[in-house]
Amino acid sequence: MSDSNRYERGLERGPANHVPLTPCDFMARAAAIYPARTAVVHGALRRDYAETYARCRRLAGALAARGVGIGDTVSILAPNVPAMLEAHFGVPMAGAVLNALNIRLDAASIAAMLAHAQSRVLIVDAGFARVAEDALAQLECRPHVVAIEDSAGVEGEGGFADESYEALLTAGTPDFDWPWPEDEWQAISLNYTSGTTGRPKGVVYHHRGAYLNALSNVLMNGFTRESVYLWTLPMFHCNGWTHTWAVTAAAGAHICLPRMEPAEVFRLIAEERVTHMAGAPVVLGMLINAPEVDKRQFEHVVEVATGGAAPPAPVIAAMEEMGFNVTHLYGLTEVYGPALVAAPQQDWPDLPLDDRAALMARQGVRHHAIQGALVADPETLAPVPADGVTTGEIMLRGNTVMKGYLDDTRATAEAFGGGWFHTGDLAVTHPDGYIQITDRAKDIIISGGENISSIEVENVLYGHEAVLEAAVVARPDERWGETPCAFVALKPDGPAASEEALIEHCRARMARFKVPRTIVFGDLPKTATGKIMKFELRERARGLSSDAPVGESAETA
Ligand code: ADP
Repeated sequence: MSDSNRYERGLERGPANHVPLTPCDFMARAAAIYPARTAVVHGALRRDYAETYARCRRLAGALAARGVGIGDTVSILAPNVPAMLEAHFGVPMAGAVLNALNIRLDAASIAAMLAHAQSRVLIVDAGFARVAEDALAQLECRPHVVAIEDSAGVEGEGGFADESYEALLTAGTPDFDWPWPEDEWQAISLNYTSGTTGRPKGVVYHHRGAYLNALSNVLMNGFTRESVYLWTLPMFHCNGWTHTWAVTAAAGAHICLPRMEPAEVFRLIAEERVTHMAGAPVVLGMLINAPEVDKRQFEHVVEVATGGAAPPAPVIAAMEEMGFNVTHLYGLTEVYGPALVAAPQQDWPDLPLDDRAALMARQGVRHHAIQGALVADPETLAPVPADGVTTGEIMLRGNTVMKGYLDDTRATAEAFGGGWFHTGDLAVTHPDGYIQITDRAKDIIISGGENISSIEVENVLYGHEAVLEAAVVARPDERWGETPCAFVALKPDGPAASEEALIEHCRARMARFKVPRTIVFGDLPKTATGKIMKFELRERARGLSSDAPVGESAETA
């Protein structure tokens, strides 16, 4: 065919016009063009792009000198500190795969991941020495251990590491000529799912997807070289939704935040003039509910992207009042973080808050790099009608879908059945094409044969002034099969609320069969990314004795 097509003849691909995509180049470009622009701020420490790129090259060179390269895994256990950002460039610049671990995991989980990843090197922030040591003790094959010693204010245990991170850097040179990946399909990172729905799986990203998702994020967030990005999102979560590479692509500034402390967030917003940040709705909740003394006034608007769960309307309202502009994203580890966005239409800003919040709470439309987003029957892949009522499963395809699960061909094949990535999230498509999640496949509650969306019940509970957090799961019931059981955390300084009061609140706002039969008060178990662990709550609900009287749980004020 190409012989007869003059748009192919003599117009071949070659090194002049076709280069594998890699986000590593964003750092090289930023340093070449804006060497003196601020790249990283961490407490009193400020580094420009020239110095940051030099450190990334040192890291890559040092790893290469130790024989680490293509096909090898380098794990890192660190909060949002400069070394964590450097690893996002230095490790793939050595050709290796970055495995950023969740810092809130226990030693056994970390050990399981290090073993599964077959990590050659483990870089650990000194503040996490103890858990790292416990994890290492459980491994048959110990990786080379490198300690980051400059963690803000956290004393390390010392002695557990083979060398310090700064010593490692001196083994590389600032002009290390890192090899460009020969194939953009080469793996760049390994991210374990947070395990909200079960056993963590090792999701593999490639250079091409990381590059494309990062640029899509630049477009979606509006990052420029003037952007000042505050790291309220853990970098270990989907490589910080690929913002690690995206902010660098724009040559913006990364403001590190090792611990989520509202007072520090407000200080940095005011003093560093932060323009963008991101986080789960619980992070926004922490800012909203921060003591007044911790809050600071700021003149400019801060763009905040939220995802992982839908932001309830009162959260959107409270954030706007404080000077934030909220954008709602949806995604999963398997799709490099953001895959859908509740992209605002022109007329949304003029709508009353309740109407706007309802539109913004939808998961939305596809992100630039996602080629197809569909709500469909998981068996036939037939799309559901865009009626806002018929439920199907969200299916995604495109260049920012993972390579697959490491060493798990079965799970990979299942996830990609029919040529689409099956998200496991149940949703509807509205007449305007916006997708809205009704539930995770496993979260739906079926009571007396009727489907109950846990999200719908949760949203009503969030509308009660006393409620800080709410999660609704199925509780087995002899008569109904299942009934909704709500786990509720009340605002620490808020008004009191009894089980009866919350049930009454729900009764006034939803069909009777959807009203929670049980309300349990107390803190909600969360994953490291701030997501409520529903599987644990489901187990707790299962464990509640079936004849327990209403009001069995402790009321908290
Ligand atoms: P895990 O599946 O282990 O929790 P992820 O961090 O990949 O790890 O979580 C992705 C899941 O989080 C999605 O499948 C979906 O159920 C939920 N999720 C993500 N974003 C949103 C959102 N904006 N609204 C509702 N649910 C969301």
